[in-house]
Amino acid sequence: MTDIFNQLRSAVPGVVWPVLPDQPGATALALQHQLDQSQWWSPADLQLHQLAQLRLVLRHAIETVPYWGARLGKEWRRDDIIPDWTRFRQLPLMTRADAQQSGNDLLSRRIPGDHGALTRSGSSGSTGMPLTCYGTALTDFFWRAFTLREHFWHGRDFSGRLAAIRLKVNSGEMPGWGPATDIAFTTGPCALLNLQTDIDTQLDWLEAQSAQYLITIATNLRWLAERAIERKLKLPGLLEARSYGGIVDDKTRDAVDAAWQVKVVDMYTAQEVGYIALQCPLHAHYHVQSENLIVEILDGSGAPCPPGDVGRVVVTTLHNFAMPLIRYEIGDFAEAGDACECGRGLPVLRRIMGRERNLLRLPDGRRHWPSFPQSRWVAIAPIRQLQLVQKSLQDIRVRIVAPRDLSADEAQRLIAVLQDCLGYPFRMTVERVDEIARAGNYKFEDFVSECAD
Ligand SMILES: [Zn+2]
Repeated sequence: MTDIFNQLRSAVPGVVWPVLPDQPGATALALQHQLDQSQWWSPADLQLHQLAQLRLVLRHAIETVPYWGARLGKEWRRDDIIPDWTRFRQLPLMTRADAQQSGNDLLSRRIPGDHGALTRSGSSGSTGMPLTCYGTALTDFFWRAFTLREHFWHGRDFSGRLAAIRLKVNSGEMPGWGPATDIAFTTGPCALLNLQTDIDTQLDWLEAQSAQYLITIATNLRWLAERAIERKLKLPGLLEARSYGGIVDDKTRDAVDAAWQVKVVDMYTAQEVGYIALQCPLHAHYHVQSENLIVEILDGSGAPCPPGDVGRVVVTTLHNFAMPLIRYEIGDFAEAGDACECGRGLPVLRRIMGRERNLLRLPDGRRHWPSFPQSRWVAIAPIRQLQLVQKSLQDIRVRIVAPRDLSADEAQRLIAVLQDCLGYPFRMTVERVDEIARAGNYKFEDFVSECAD
């Protein structure tokens, strides 16, 4: 903590120690102090506090949000119950399609004035189905609190330089890392680059930055690392690579380690709800941010998954009084984990698996996450990038980026390897493309199913 204290910003001239922050800074630090305690609580204690907050959210949602009033109000009035966990887990799930169809009915008609101004953001999700999300100044405040917690968890040196390659930003430089840290700390600068920049240009830019920290979208990070290995481009000052907005698998972690000998720290966020889980400071798995939301991992029948099982991620927001989401199926799958040996009581997600549309469908009805590691096909032909698109239960299109067309023999060998990896002799056609789009749908996916139900 000593280093962090050195970076605290005092608001009173003539006082540098002990630091006297301004009002917003003091509020942020007070919340951080609570988060610092609650992370060590037992799961039972965390649930007890969640339930107290959940009851307020449910009552508010039913009384002021037309969608929830219609959906849950009758039951609420009939029993006038204050739900316990059992009742909560019987509430119906809300899908993204439900949310889209409901439009403004999801918006509270009586947002508490103390929660601050209404904020609005769009979420394209991975399905390409846009959803307008609303929050308040308060939900933004919580968003930033978990950003700050993530810095603390990973012991970052705030005096360092941060290089951020993100979607929808103007390239340039900011004096600080952003609002989450700027509220109470003095940090090094943050250099920004738009994600839609060509990978080689991104690497040249990164090399020129000599940054201590890099943050970018997960797949972009993998491409950067893989290309850096090819170019033997080192980033000697880099301490850590941070990622968000996608799946970080072993391929990504290995590539980053091989390229720059640093670890990847990933975070699991969604536009609709903010931080869902943060990577444990000691492990590659994730801790649910229980102070921000309730996360359930449910199997096909709606029952909670035991540790080791993969299920769908269902979330309930705890502080959004503008557009509360209750048992909302966010569209991701994750593997439930055992309690973490680090001692934090925050539940563990062992892996974030991806989206339903990243599941391979076999003709017999089974579905699984396909694996076709680069090591299996990289020697066949000079393929720079590969994506599989499942068109039907029998057909898969193999999209490749390569400097030339594949010979008939190469294409045949590639198909044979992929069929073997997928465990079924799908009909495959190889299609060479200039680029596999990453701009529109920034969560680049190696595998996409366009299979109709
Ligand atoms: Zn842990």
